[in-house]
Amino acid sequence: MDKVEVIIVGAGPSGLTCAYTLAKAGVEVVVIERGEYPGAKNMFGGIFFSSIMSKIFPDFFADAPWERFVGKRKFSLLAGNSEMAFDFTPSAFNEPPYNHSFMARRGSMDQWLAKKAEAAGASIINNYCVSDFLYEHDKVVGITSGGDHDTLLADVIVCAEGANSLLSEKARLRKKIMAGRRSIAVKENIRLPRAVIEDRFGLTGRQGAAYEYFGASVQGLLGNGFIYTNQDSLSVGVGFSLSDFTKTQTDKNPNDILDEFKSHPVIAPLLRGGETMEYMAHMIPSDGYDYLPKLYRDGLLVVGDAAGLLNTSFFHEGVNLAMASGIFAAETVIAAREQKDFSADTLEFYEEKLKKSFVLQDLKNCKNFLSFLHKHKSLINDYPVLLNNVLVDYFQVCEKPKIQIKKEIFQRVKKNVKFTRVAWDMWGAWSNLI
Ligand SMILES: Cc1cc2nc3c(=O)[nH]c(=O)nc-3n(C[C@H](O)[C@H](O)[C@H](O)COP(=O)(O)OP(=O)(O)OC[C@H]3O[C@@H](n4cnc5c(N)ncnc54)[C@H](O)[C@@H]3O)c2cc1C
Repeated sequence: MDKVEVIIVGAGPSGLTCAYTLAKAGVEVVVIERGEYPGAKNMFGGIFFSSIMSKIFPDFFADAPWERFVGKRKFSLLAGNSEMAFDFTPSAFNEPPYNHSFMARRGSMDQWLAKKAEAAGASIINNYCVSDFLYEHDKVVGITSGGDHDTLLADVIVCAEGANSLLSEKARLRKKIMAGRRSIAVKENIRLPRAVIEDRFGLTGRQGAAYEYFGASVQGLLGNGFIYTNQDSLSVGVGFSLSDFTKTQTDKNPNDILDEFKSHPVIAPLLRGGETMEYMAHMIPSDGYDYLPKLYRDGLLVVGDAAGLLNTSFFHEGVNLAMASGIFAAETVIAAREQKDFSADTLEFYEEKLKKSFVLQDLKNCKNFLSFLHKHKSLINDYPVLLNNVLVDYFQVCEKPKIQIKKEIFQRVKKNVKFTRVAWDMWGAWSNLI
């Protein structure tokens, strides 16, 4: 059987960054990708966080196929047909390095990254789906696609297979994936002329807008809707907890929830006249810090989404955590290669690196985010409605003196909500969400 130094399963941001770092250090590395080309099967919301990327590729800004920089952000609460929003366009985000946040499409960005890895010396084999690892005693020593002759051996294997982490499950690094540990996202790319996008979202040049919609955007499920502007298309989608979705026992499918989001009176005018070019669906890991899989065993490391390394709080950061983990895995392999020891004892160094970095520190910090929201759904369902009603009353134009309006609002709120409960919820939100 053929043997190489390192096999990486999966040509997403984590696998390709790992491959690039290894190849640059002179390590023989082969990336195996099940898609026709890197990025062919990949999807994300749309913001490529590039702090890691621009460190390893200083030409990222000038050369990479990003669509727009994120100059405008909006966090919006939908209540019924109403909207309340916090919209900000800081000058700091509209100047280089643009807060390291760029709208991109995975198809083109993953191919750009793959070319960088190949130029550094990595080999990429497309159209090959790894069905299992090969073992010698308890050590992972290779991969197979199922056929007797479809095998490849390596000193060490990096599993970068993404959220649908069946191989890490087979390698007993994680328990069977439960609905509570995954979210589902569906998204469309909707084509619109560039000038229309710029007029509708108030953009100039390569400036872009990232809008996140909470509350009624996903029919009371734990999740949110989003619109991100590309140059001549919009990424429009919804993502929500899979367990929440199955618990509601609705006969709606995820696409119905996206359709309802798209037809919401606040959203529909932003999409008017657009033509759907692509439809995509994908899992999002929401393992959480306390339920992360084991990250290594003899001969094997797990990186990126396969390892559950995704910040599912307000930040929705996955790409830069994936890339950081790819680099840490590569550095660990390089050190192990010098010692000629790819046992778990040596590969353990990988987890140490993750713990010392923003990757595991951020995941630890937001570990209660989803469980807190699961237990306090009033924050996403009831409070937006309450706030909307208060604002409607406060700003009503009538002949009543304003002081009387304020008193009436206070009395109505006092009747409907317990202030101690609100204070407790707000304290909980502050401690667990922010
Ligand atoms: C809807 C959605 C919105 C998101 N929005 C954002 C965002 O705005 N910003 C952000 O930073 N992150 C976002 N993320 C998360 C981000 O996409 C991931 O964190 C990131 O892509 C993880 O990279 P990865 O390389 O670990 O995995 P992936 O990008 O999933 O790559 C895994 C690769 O492995 C391949 N593969 C899988 N199994 C096999 C196999 N058996 N054999 C061979 N190849 C295999 C796949 O084809 C794929 O190419 C979002 C995710 C989703 C789903």
